[in-house]
Order: sequence, then structure tokens, then C-alpha cells
Amino acid sequence: MKAFEYARPGTVAEAVRMVSERPGAGFIAGGTDLLNLMKDGARAHDRVVDINTLPLADVVQVGGVIRIGALARMGDVAAHPSVRRALPVVSQALLASASPQVRNMAAIGGNLLQRTRCGYFRDAGVPCNKKVPGSGCPALEGQNRGHAVLGGSDHCIAVHPSDLAVALLAVDAVVLTQGPAGPRRIPVGEFHLLPGTTPDREIALSHGELIVGVEVPVTPLAARSGYLKLRDRTTFEFAVVAVAAALDLRGGVVRDLRLTFGGVATKPWRSPEAEAALRGRPITDTTLAAAAQALVRGAVTRPGNAFKVDLVRRALAGHLRELGGVR
Ligand code: SF4
Repeated sequence: MKAFEYARPGTVAEAVRMVSERPGAGFIAGGTDLLNLMKDGARAHDRVVDINTLPLADVVQVGGVIRIGALARMGDVAAHPSVRRALPVVSQALLASASPQVRNMAAIGGNLLQRTRCGYFRDAGVPCNKKVPGSGCPALEGQNRGHAVLGGSDHCIAVHPSDLAVALLAVDAVVLTQGPAGPRRIPVGEFHLLPGTTPDREIALSHGELIVGVEVPVTPLAARSGYLKLRDRTTFEFAVVAVAAALDLRGGVVRDLRLTFGGVATKPWRSPEAEAALRGRPITDTTLAAAAQALVRGAVTRPGNAFKVDLVRRALAGHLRELGGVR
């Protein structure tokens, strides 16, 4: 890891200035991903701006909105009474993430910014379009068991690793930022970018723009939500397939729903097509099969990851039956 300058700002505005004025500067909070990336050589900063003392760690409910500060720790958010009651999918996704030690350290803002676990990306000696644009993507023909079947391109098929982002997408969350050009509100569905021809560009933030929080509306739909994560072992493992669902089921008919997915796509993935196959209908084998088919219609598989198509279909059906109490 190269030497870097360490800075500790007193205000959000000062933090934004310290990073935006220098191209090689970056923010650090929990540091659970950033420090590994710097050690691995996958990321380099000549100035690290430590935002841990900024007043951004509160979780508050004001009227019909829960606001989660960017520095709130994953474990604290998962256990917060308002989050558990109004946003169970968020609490469950956080509890399914990482280890208790990491959840005590890692911040909400940093979780949304974590980089892919693609092994080629994390190996400094291997070409990778996400690290060095134009250098190639060895995962296309190489080890791709953990890679995406949705949202990929000829330039990158890396999976986005955040459970939290998938859960927030299911409850219509908005990311709040403060940048050199002022504050912004970014719907979480627009926060992460598809790889396309520029997989090195992953998020809709400008340099020096800081996540200050996440806002989530409190709705009946969000209150009946849940997260299912399938992984290779039960602790400290990233999703092979994950399904977040929010469900308004009345009289046996789906009035409204959100279906979002992790482990299968290059960004947190919502499927309006799968939702449309269920909205206004009962949960049955037929409607679940139609939703699953709609979800994977555009899937592009490779030898290592083809199994994910069937797995995510079965996960979707099982999770919705469980959430809706339908046997
Ligand atoms: Fe790099 Fe993406 Fe290819 Fe992985 S999948 S090697 S991150 S370009």
C-alpha cells in the first residue's frame, strides 16, 4: 500500500472540499472494504479523508420517513426498532451480511459503495476492465461461477455484492448526497450503474460527492417485506442468489409488490416484468412460474454460472410463498 496523507474534517462541507479539490483523494468511514482494496492494489489514494467524526450516524423516523445516516453501523441499523418494524427486509439483509465484527464496523454509506468480489478484480497482477479500462475481462471465459447472468456486457459480468442495496431497492429508498454542486437525492435504483462499455464507472456520484444518508418511506408494502439469501456457507459469505420482496397481499390477491435480486446481476436488480406477472393475481404455481420466466428472460449464461437461472427462479417462488403465507 502506498503512503497517503490523512485528513480529518470538522464538517461535511470541509470533507467534500478536501476530496473534491484533489483527484487522488477519497473518503474513509468503516474502512472494511477500502483498506483491503488499497492493500490489494485495486485502489490507490494519495489523501484519505476520515469522516468518522461527522454527525451522520443517527437513525430517525420523522413522520412517514426513516432516515438512516451514512455513518450508522450495519449492526445498529439492523437492530433499530423502527427498521425492524417498518423495513424488515433491510434488517434481514443486514443481518445476512458479513460477520458480526464487520457489521459493528462497517457503515451504511460504505456498504453501498463496496466494490465487486470478482477474484480477477481483487488480484493486482491480472488484467480487468474495471481496474484498467480496455485491459480485458478474463471472467468471460474463465472462472465465472460467482458472476452475473443479468445486466452484464462484453466488458464486465461482475456481480454487485451489497445485500443492503438490494433490500433498499425493494423499499424505494433514496440516497442523499452532498457534493461540490450541493445536495442531491438519488433513487437507489439509479445509484448503481450497468457496466456497459465503462465498467470502471460503477456509481452515479461525482468526485468529492459524499453520501450523507439514506431515506426510506414507511409504507404498508415495506412493512411486509423480507430477504432471502442463498450462499455457499451460512457465515460471512456473499450471495449466490438473493431475493428481496415487499408484498401487499389482500384477499389472496397481490395488490402490489416489489421484487429485487442480488447475486445474479451487475447491479441491484429490480424486475418490473416479474412484478407485472403477479400484480392483480393470486400466488399460484402458474403465476409464480410466469414471474420467474419474466425475470430470467434476458439472462445470458456461461458454463460456470448457468445454474443461477434455475436457482433464482426457485428462490423467487419459495420466498414469495413464505412471505405471503401461501402453501
Ligand atoms: Fe474485471 Fe468485471 Fe471482468 Fe471481473 S468481470 S475481471 S471485475 S471486468
